[in-house]
Amino acid sequence: MTRRRRILVPTALLALAALGLIARGQQDKPKLGYKDTPMLPGGKWHVHDGDRPQPPVVTPGQQPGQAPSDAVVLFDGKDLSKWQVGGKEAGWKVEDGAMIVPPSGTKGGGTITSKDEFGDCQIHVEFATPDPPKGKDQGRGNSGVLIMGRYEVQVLDCYKNLTYPDGQTSAIYGQYPPQVNASRPPGEWQTYEIIFTAPRFAKDGSVETPAYATVLHNGVLTQNHVALLGPMTFRALAKYSPHGPKGPLAFQDHGNPVRYRNIWVREIKDPE
Ligand code: MG
Repeated sequence: MTRRRRILVPTALLALAALGLIARGQQDKPKLGYKDTPMLPGGKWHVHDGDRPQPPVVTPGQQPGQAPSDAVVLFDGKDLSKWQVGGKEAGWKVEDGAMIVPPSGTKGGGTITSKDEFGDCQIHVEFATPDPPKGKDQGRGNSGVLIMGRYEVQVLDCYKNLTYPDGQTSAIYGQYPPQVNASRPPGEWQTYEIIFTAPRFAKDGSVETPAYATVLHNGVLTQNHVALLGPMTFRALAKYSPHGPKGPLAFQDHGNPVRYRNIWVREIKDPE
């Protein structure tokens, strides 16, 4: 064997082995979809394009309402380590797996705010209004889910309790009444699933796109992608003030011992 052949043979063998590996790699990657189909708007992907990134795998909660694997769990029934009131330790009560609005005057009482901040997100919240109920109208089981610390989905006991429609349970407070009143009786656990899109502001502070919210109350659609007029206001027309892309989740302390549990948030990332 010449010296040249001694080099060529192993090189050729290596090349063949590499080709084999490549071929095997191609076999492992299943051929998916189509490349001879029209381009979708945006010019990046064909209709049924198999090269489009696969959506990430997420393990859903074992039971409906339980946090999926990619959620940020803000309250699991144990402690308030992910919360604060006015930048200090939260004084809300934790009892039987729930966090509860404390009696007025309690140290660390007041609107409770998550330490984590979110922009576009999916929010799961469970709440129960006081049983036996006390008060009427806005004075009965009042609290609220404050998204980005300012956009309120109202929490109230609206089971056989009349109030102004844009102040009902699941209203965007002061803006949109819920489509229906899906309230459960006082003391029973209720759910909110909220899909929230944060507002976008231009450099000059003007609103590029408003905030949008979709809300399901006890699994019933109550707000369908409504465009918010601005943050929560009382007896005034809501008006935007520019703010950053993220903000905390907060619950209003309205002096009524409303209970919350199983609170989790998923950041919304648009698929490619
Ligand atoms: Mg409220």
